[in-house]
Amino acid sequence: MFLPDRFIVGTCPYCGYEKAYGDQCENCGRLLEPTLLINPRCAICGSPPVLKTTKHWFFDLPKLQGELEKYIESNKQLPPNARNMSLQILRDGLKPRALTRDNKWGIPAPFPGAEGKTIYVWMEAVLGYISATIEYFEKKGEPDRWRDFWLDPATKSVYFIGKDNIPFHTIILPALLLASGGGYVLPWTVASTEYLLFRGLKFSKSKRIGVWADEALEVFPVDYWRFALVALRPEVRDTNFTWEEFQRVINNDLNDNLGNFVHRVLVLTHRRFGGEVPKPRSSRGEWFQEEIRRRYEQATRSMESFRFKEALQEILMLSSSGNSLLNSERPWELPDDEASSVVYVALHAVKALAIMLHPILPGSSQRMWELLGYQDRVSEHSWEEALSPVPPGQKLPEPRPLFTKISDEDIKRAVERIEELRSARES
Ligand SMILES: [Zn+2]
Ligand SMILES: [Zn+2]
Repeated sequence: MFLPDRFIVGTCPYCGYEKAYGDQCENCGRLLEPTLLINPRCAICGSPPVLKTTKHWFFDLPKLQGELEKYIESNKQLPPNARNMSLQILRDGLKPRALTRDNKWGIPAPFPGAEGKTIYVWMEAVLGYISATIEYFEKKGEPDRWRDFWLDPATKSVYFIGKDNIPFHTIILPALLLASGGGYVLPWTVASTEYLLFRGLKFSKSKRIGVWADEALEVFPVDYWRFALVALRPEVRDTNFTWEEFQRVINNDLNDNLGNFVHRVLVLTHRRFGGEVPKPRSSRGEWFQEEIRRRYEQATRSMESFRFKEALQEILMLSSSGNSLLNSERPWELPDDEASSVVYVALHAVKALAIMLHPILPGSSQRMWELLGYQDRVSEHSWEEALSPVPPGQKLPEPRPLFTKISDEDIKRAVERIEELRSARES
């Protein structure tokens, strides 16, 4: 019996990381061979593995070195972590890579003489993107449509992955596609994040480190999780989920900044203008249009580069400057003609927030949309509509706060509830 790659751990010969796997170091990202590990041991019992001779089929990666270099160097979309890791691997020089394994579990190797062997998981898993497209269109009764995506050089495919999966998407997948000679379009880019840790530890299903989606939804509303996960998305460095941090972003950013701004504007519209969008009757607060446009443009750029956390920060800057607008203009103390223009532009900001938050907080964005007096779905409106104000005369329903703060007691109860759910599942 042979140990699978991931069950052999040891020290990475490149970076010295002590928990590198037989096929890859998750610290520096390099592709490894079990025999390259320093001090290799069995991940289950810790004893040193015994080397045995077997026969394998190899993928001749060095043959593709030049083409892959060209592909990586000319790919302007790749985020810095993917570009650097891929260039490092190419600089180290590609080595032939065994694509068969002596494991029972896996896709059977289809080569003559390879009976009983399986395919190395990362050689077939990435091809699942293509098989999934083929299957999808077969089920729709359009068996040839997959070609429109995979064989069209204009296709832009984007892979959302953690940094440990970079080489499989920027080296192995393009190498397989190139080697096939089938004219497949290569990955356009990867949206590769750093790691999100759970209270300082690596998420692990087997070690029960983390919160599972069904548990998460039992204890807090889905939009709170969506908000916190985007706010903590590890776009430039590893980030750490803690309950304190979760509570902080929900209370300070979602509730006090965003929720508060929206509620203040809606309440003001009711108190001052009977719940009807006022017609702007002066130039007071007009400068804020520029702020809406500026944040909109920044958020658009970040979204288009798949930097969702950065986009969310821009969006939150808009609600934060919206709060400053109200604090500095004090429309409740202004005469009607001046107050009308401040409230008008503030309502425009709420609309821009509803549209721009839709990809991140679909439920709350729809509620904001309805609180602005719209009766249709915000999802039916274009992103660009964030730049057009709410029409004067539109009637707003009774305002209700969008979010509530999370207390220490709420967190304590949530953690206890998760424990309960787990012990119920295990017994
Ligand atoms: Zn390493
Ligand atoms: Zn063992």
